[in-house]
Amino acid sequence: MIRRLLLLLRQPRVARAMFWPRTLLGVVWAAPVTAFGLLLALPVVLFRGNVQMVRGSAFALLARGPVADAMLSHHPFGAMNAMAIGHVVIAMHGGLSARVLVHELAHVRQAERWGILFPFAYLASSAWAALRGKDAYWHNRFEIAARKAEKRS
Ligand SMILES: [Zn+2]
Repeated sequence: MIRRLLLLLRQPRVARAMFWPRTLLGVVWAAPVTAFGLLLALPVVLFRGNVQMVRGSAFALLARGPVADAMLSHHPFGAMNAMAIGHVVIAMHGGLSARVLVHELAHVRQAERWGILFPFAYLASSAWAALRGKDAYWHNRFEIAARKAEKRS
């Protein structure tokens, strides 16, 4: 029964019809994470930055500007082109290719699924990889899934 329902939800026509209901539930469920993302995006937007809405496999607010460039190039996990925090994507001005956006929107969907648990699940996955002697970023299950989403796009 549940398996049949899951198969039904994966059909493209049904998946399209479910986009906004699923997104609305995801927005509520991920709201605490998104609130943190908005806090980080605030200085990005206030200091000569801009914000726009983007939509792909999920929707997100995209914040870019000089503060985002500085933030991402000095990120404690290493320099990166973009990062997703709930429904907020903070990106380098010149670093947002279509592929990077697909990757970040995959993280937005993960946040919709995991909600407030997402940051903890993400860190636990990195810790689990590191404990097994693997790379904490590259072998994180959420990163693996986001890279798979890039290939599907
Ligand atoms: Zn990622």
